[in-house]
Amino acid sequence: MLRPGLLTKRLSTSTTSLAARRTSQAALSNFPRASLLLSSIQNPRFLSSAANSFANIKSQLNDPTLITTAGFIDNEFITTSNSGKHFPVYDPANGTEIARFPDMGIEETDRAIQAAKQAFSSWSKTTAKERSTILRNWYNLIIENEQDLAKIITWENGKPLADALGEVRYGASFFEWFAEEAKRLYGEVIPSPNRQQRMLAIRQPIGVVGIITPWNFPNAMITRKLGAALAVGCTVVAKPASETPLSAVALYELGRRAGVPKGVIGLVTTHHNTKAIGKHICESQDVSGISFTGSTAVGKLLLKQSADTVKKVSLELGGNAAFIVFEDADIDKAVDAAVLAKFRSSGQTCICVNRFYVHSSIKDVFGERLREKVEKFRVGSGMEANTTHGPLINKASVEKVRSHVHDALNHGAKLLTGGKESENTHGYFYPPTVLTDMNNNMRIATEETFGPVAGIFSFETEDEVLELANNTRFGLSGYFFSKDVSRCWRVAENLQVGMVGVNTGAISSEVAPFGGVKESGIGREGARQGLDEYTQYKYINMAI
Ligand code: ADP
Repeated sequence: MLRPGLLTKRLSTSTTSLAARRTSQAALSNFPRASLLLSSIQNPRFLSSAANSFANIKSQLNDPTLITTAGFIDNEFITTSNSGKHFPVYDPANGTEIARFPDMGIEETDRAIQAAKQAFSSWSKTTAKERSTILRNWYNLIIENEQDLAKIITWENGKPLADALGEVRYGASFFEWFAEEAKRLYGEVIPSPNRQQRMLAIRQPIGVVGIITPWNFPNAMITRKLGAALAVGCTVVAKPASETPLSAVALYELGRRAGVPKGVIGLVTTHHNTKAIGKHICESQDVSGISFTGSTAVGKLLLKQSADTVKKVSLELGGNAAFIVFEDADIDKAVDAAVLAKFRSSGQTCICVNRFYVHSSIKDVFGERLREKVEKFRVGSGMEANTTHGPLINKASVEKVRSHVHDALNHGAKLLTGGKESENTHGYFYPPTVLTDMNNNMRIATEETFGPVAGIFSFETEDEVLELANNTRFGLSGYFFSKDVSRCWRVAENLQVGMVGVNTGAISSEVAPFGGVKESGIGREGARQGLDEYTQYKYINMAI
């Protein structure tokens, strides 16, 4: 089944005004290079690709038993919801329905919470070594099944198969890391100021944790949270994004095989009841913490909803990353990093660059070299061997990207490449786009695009660019390029973000603390610090 409206002409569905559309179309027609990018999107083989039924998908896996269209409650895969309703999952490369999942509600969520609550009493008493062994088993099973797990990601998320495989390995690395960190959950012995008392602080798991994850890393966002939570002895109820439940259910099947005990991990699948289930988890007295990755708007809502039960809340939210190229930078290195940091997953990661600030003396050469690289991208279905960049997740994402590009062009931006959409594609594609002559009146200056659009602003001085980069309510990641060591320290210290890439565009690692400041979030994931989100200190004072 095709999603309604997919075949409508893209420009006619734009949210911009007619006058604005005319201006941008006129602007676009002056740039013949843009059409080059469309060759792979219009690939006839891609257009004629057949619908992937669920049975068809399963048959392409080495182990078809990895996926069931189900949630997972109290150690059982549940294939029907109490309401009898299901929701569809689509392949974003062609808009066809690939699976239907049970649209669960409060009742099923509550069952998962109660099972997790009961399981907590025994799971929290296991030794660190026992939990470590199970996480290590799970890690091994993920690696054994990595090809299948990568295909599943590509079907439901659209990212190219090679990127999906990278995500599976990145996802698995959190189980490997936390299997080891589980054994290092050290407390403290405190030198007592009193001769008659001995003092110590031990670390304990907080209890049942609610986990809500996004579609952009359908595998790794679950393992990053689950790994830390399970390592310290918490139990979990997870709600994956309704766009990507297949990766979640495949992970859970491997968790079952790895020996995770009954009730310890629950999985609730829903689309229509997302808001109600989110509220229920936040307000439940039986849930002690929430870990969420997603939009800032939803993160704020969850934070408010968690206030009455005073939950521990960990949020990884939106970003508006700046990528600064100083006049003394290695431009080729900066361009290579820009390709990665902007266009990975077609611009759909929270640490993707949103604003390029390039010193005025090198702005043109940087723009030209970036254009050359971007025009070599092959856009298409993630399943095609030569595809470098896949579709966006859905129609709303394409519309947002389109409106940001039109807005920039209407405010005087110059199009270096991309921008022009095919009128006749299936699937949710937007051509990788590079804009220059950006200014602060454009939406891209303040709003996260979450798509394949690089907008280049120029600057003159270090102070000026720091002020520009920090002039946002977001603060997840930032990047800059310079060969001056003193400047590297200065700028790294003064960027108001949780993570900085200095002369690199690749910063994610299971061993490093991932997270943001300002409205980009609270708490850190991965690393030693990742355990803090799921534990609390208990101070013990012993009189002798
Ligand atoms: P995006 O716009 O990138 O999809 P969202 O923040 O909407 O980001 O989604 C991230 C996750 O949060 C998904 O699992 C989604 O289903 C879930 N979600 C969306 N709205 C709510 C809500 N009101 N309460 C709880 N979870 C929500």
